[in-house]
Amino acid sequence: MSEAPPDRSFSDGEQILLIDRKKRRYLVTLAAGGEFHTHSGFVPHDDIIGAPEGAVLRSTRGAVFTAFRPTLSDFVLKMPRGAQVIYPKDLGPILMLADVFPGARVLESGVGSGALSMTLLRAGAVVTGYEIRGDFAARAVKNVKAFGGEKLAENYRVEERDVYEGIDLRGLDRIVLDLPEPWQVVPHAEEALRPGGILVAYTPAITQAVQLRERLVDSGFELAETMEVLHRGWNIDGMSVRPDHRMVAHTGFLTHARLLPTPD
Ligand code: SAH
Repeated sequence: MSEAPPDRSFSDGEQILLIDRKKRRYLVTLAAGGEFHTHSGFVPHDDIIGAPEGAVLRSTRGAVFTAFRPTLSDFVLKMPRGAQVIYPKDLGPILMLADVFPGARVLESGVGSGALSMTLLRAGAVVTGYEIRGDFAARAVKNVKAFGGEKLAENYRVEERDVYEGIDLRGLDRIVLDLPEPWQVVPHAEEALRPGGILVAYTPAITQAVQLRERLVDSGFELAETMEVLHRGWNIDGMSVRPDHRMVAHTGFLTHARLLPTPD
């Protein structure tokens, strides 16, 4: 006999997404006795707690909302931000380029708002973050807990420090960077990564990618590549089947390389 499926109905304290008829999205933290207010009345949280995902709710003045759990992508776009986040279109490819696997020991710097951190953690990595700003470090930990609870945060530790000054860890599997001068981290990464370890850096400007690539040439790293990810949505509505009029033309460049063993 197969086991009963787990109960996935909404519970008190979790964050959910309410979507209205115009597809506007609201991130709401459920609390017993609480109310979600809009200009067209309110929805009691008690109507949502215990309901299944996809439940349709009606406000006191007749507005209709559908309730879902936010996906990681929804959450990244809606969560409170200190620093600019890496967008979902780049977060997915970073997981592949860094070849993140369950249990991978990853150093991430800086952590900013924690969007990349929660993506790495969710893929099963054990993440140490180096973040120079204490307020951002605290915000990132808060965001990780808001998304995945204490369970996701179990494999997450953030230290307030400058990664340009060095990395204390050794035998790391991966290093993932999102900061202004990733080339300054290359000599530290050579010490901290194990042979075969992977370095990935996200840089908004191509000049940053070029400077990193130049630094990688004279290093123990090999197989360096730089790419960008273009994401073009399509409108599919009856006879109107065409690319969306608007597109995010640029976010950042992704550079990755692998560390070779040190020659004897
Ligand atoms: N990837 C993050 C955003 C990072 S923004 C996300 O997806 O949410 C860049 C971060 O790098 C900022 O928080 C900044 O404070 C931090 N930073 C800049 N220089 C640094 C350094 N030398 N050492 C550690 N962190 C640094």
